[in-house]
Amino acid sequence: MKKCAACARESGDGRKYCRYHAKALEQLKSHYDSWVEAYGGISWQDYLQRLQKMEEETTGQWVREVIEAEMKKKEEV
Ligand SMILES: [Zn+2]
Repeated sequence: MKKCAACARESGDGRKYCRYHAKALEQLKSHYDSWVEAYGGISWQDYLQRLQKMEEETTGQWVREVIEAEMKKKEEV
């Protein structure tokens, strides 16, 4: 079984993340879309870096773990 990119859980079905982190990534991506609208274009990596600097209570643990995993793989969006 394939493991989640952000934790040790099984991700299943060739997915990159487990269900918890996949959900966190969905939240990240929809939030990213509103940032792009508000700021007129920000790269995925810039967005992740900005979020990483925010308070943990703002983002949440699952989201933070996805951010860390995403930042390790810069070529993927
Ligand atoms: Zn996970």
